[in-house]
Amino acid sequence: MATLEIELFTCRSDNFGVLLHDPVSRRTASIDAPEEPAILAALERRGWTLTDIFTTHHHPDHVEANLALKARFGVRIVGPKNEADRIPGIDATVGDGDSFDFAGHPVEVIETPGHTAGHICYHLPQDKLLFSADTLFALGCGRLFERPAEVMWPSLLKLRALPSDTIVYFGHEYTLSNARFALTIDPDNAALKVRVEAIETLRAEGRPTAPTLLADEIATNPFLRADDPTLRAHLGMEDAEDWQVFAEIRARKDRF
Ligand code: ZN
Ligand code: FE
Repeated sequence: MATLEIELFTCRSDNFGVLLHDPVSRRTASIDAPEEPAILAALERRGWTLTDIFTTHHHPDHVEANLALKARFGVRIVGPKNEADRIPGIDATVGDGDSFDFAGHPVEVIETPGHTAGHICYHLPQDKLLFSADTLFALGCGRLFERPAEVMWPSLLKLRALPSDTIVYFGHEYTLSNARFALTIDPDNAALKVRVEAIETLRAEGRPTAPTLLADEIATNPFLRADDPTLRAHLGMEDAEDWQVFAEIRARKDRF
């Protein structure tokens, strides 16, 4: 089994686009379809032809180019069964625990309701890749538009339970703002302080902060750390339920 090649690029104002390519079969998948010109340019750079789209959720900045790319390439679009009626051009629906094959690479579907009701993430266990879109960001998580914190927290726990050497590609370059916020929640976290400096350097050089390593998120992302005793003590929420601590962190970020 050949190693998958990945092309990461930024598009729209702060979206990440990702292409996944198998050099043997030449199949190429776009994780979501935020913007047609940027995806065409990325394909052109690598000399790839698009065959698949893996949709994570229905927001326009993730599905806008679905129909155009389908008309141009005849791509097959896989997407979340719980919001399939909102995914333009969808060919196949998938839900929690489903798996399918991408050029010999198993792809496992993880439902992560919260940001939207039907949001899914794509996990490639053999390749140690996770595409978390707007559920988990570097040092952040998606806003709770369609499901409450009580639902989103277990979604994040599912991702946290994956092997810690999983490489995570996520949907938006919000990392610098997330980093500054994280320091207000978890100010005594030494690993976080080191990471914030690295992020500031990356962004000053105009480089993307994606991908990230799940182990680093577990150690520093406050939205994965609602059950951490030090963080809970800082918030004065030692006796609260974990999801309530998560809800408080999310509410503070909404106001940040
Ligand atoms: Zn979204
Ligand atoms: Fe988005």
